[in-house]
Amino acid sequence: MPQPTAYAVIGHPVAHSRSPWIHARFAELTGQSLRYTRLDLPPERFAQGLHQFLADGAHGCNVTVPHKFEAARLAQVSSERVQRAHAANTLWLHEGVLHADNTDGLGLVADLQDGLGLDLAGAQLLLIGAGGAAAGVLAPLLAAGPARLVLANRSLHRAQTLVAAHADLAALQKTELLAHALHGLEGDFDIIINATASSLNGQALPLEATHLRPGAWAYDMMYGPPAQPFMAWAHSCGARASDGLGMLVGQAAESFALWRGVRPPAAQVLAELRALLASGG
Ligand code: NDP
Repeated sequence: MPQPTAYAVIGHPVAHSRSPWIHARFAELTGQSLRYTRLDLPPERFAQGLHQFLADGAHGCNVTVPHKFEAARLAQVSSERVQRAHAANTLWLHEGVLHADNTDGLGLVADLQDGLGLDLAGAQLLLIGAGGAAAGVLAPLLAAGPARLVLANRSLHRAQTLVAAHADLAALQKTELLAHALHGLEGDFDIIINATASSLNGQALPLEATHLRPGAWAYDMMYGPPAQPFMAWAHSCGARASDGLGMLVGQAAESFALWRGVRPPAAQVLAELRALLASGG
């Protein structure tokens, strides 16, 4: 019997990752034969470990913190999304050539639009962060046609670099795209997306209730207990809030479709994962 095709999520740390569970369910539900594991590699061992994993017969992998920029650098063929973001979360070998894409933004936009029923077209968006996650979602967010997108980051120069790399796309969409420092933000927004690691560190962002328009949503890309303080802040301001679990399953579904050519039932798997987490699993 042929061996199941091997995949992994590579990160540091990665023990907490739910990706193996998600991909195992996708495989079961679509009848695909694959094995998906976790690989914890520190930055200095990432390139060597990735190449070894592929040399041992694996087809591809997901890449998470802190390797997304290095993954984009190592790829021989990159999607337009990766070329803009300089960050990749999905790698695979095709005829010996290493390909890269970034499915984070597709997962986020699908969760916002299809999962939460939000209309991004014409919306006022605040995206906080300029790391691998924010870089990966900026182009797909712009493609949804918001009226205005403010990219705020603790280190202003990183926000400015990302904005410069996406200026042509924003102009095409007629979206006003601005870089801003995290402190001193002005204006109000329909959707505030926390793409920083602040929740992971238990640190609050310098946001005010006035940044939330009536009916606004706050979205933390984190999920589980770390996302709770940001969501609680939004609720205390009268806004609605979501964690990033839908994005996690959505980006995984896009990776799975790229690798296997089959679209898995993401909504079903998200509902199952929420139930599993709620039961303490
Ligand atoms: P990076 O390490 O690449 O970037 C971290 C970002 O967070 C930077 O913009 C950094 O700002 C900012 N930051 C860190 N600490 C603070 C703080 N205390 N206050 C304000 N800003 C802070 O990480 P990623 O971009 O890859 O990931 C960010 C988060 O998104 C992670 O928590 C990750 O788990 C989550 N994520 C979730 C996904 C999902 O599917 N749900 C997918 C991808 C990511 P500076 O530039 O100034 O250092």
